Amino acid sequence: MDNICGICGDTDSKKYMHTLNCSHSFHYECLVQSFKYANNRNCPICRKPSDILPMVNSYKKPINLIHYDYTTSIDELDKIKNFEHKKCDHIITRGKNKGKLCDKRCVVGFYKCSSHL
Ligand SMILES: [Zn+2]
Ligand SMILES: [Zn+2]
Ligand SMILES: [Zn+2]
Repeated sequence: MDNICGICGDTDSKKYMHTLNCSHSFHYECLVQSFKYANNRNCPICRKPSDILPMVNSYKKPINLIHYDYTTSIDELDKIKNFEHKKCDHIITRGKNKGKLCDKRCVVGFYKCSSHL
């Protein structure tokens, strides 16, 4: 599986990738931007309409027509809007905070902060 973003062409492994049902892969954040700009959820490469995107850790807030739409049930919407964002779960191995969780904000889509990814 290649991890080149079909939008920006970058291979940055510290960016969360999302693969659409047409099997094209993009950075999650590039995809959100692209859907926002196009005002639809068509794959930027093949134009196949995609499903709504799943919420991922640390993504600030769900966007209408991207993370939910008129087909989303009230229960689902509730879950999406109250998505529980986790902090970095890296256990510090040195210094006075040894054994504690890092607890910093995570990189979007991951459960680690940028220094522990
Ligand atoms: Zn990208
Ligand atoms: Zn596609
Ligand atoms: Zn961390």
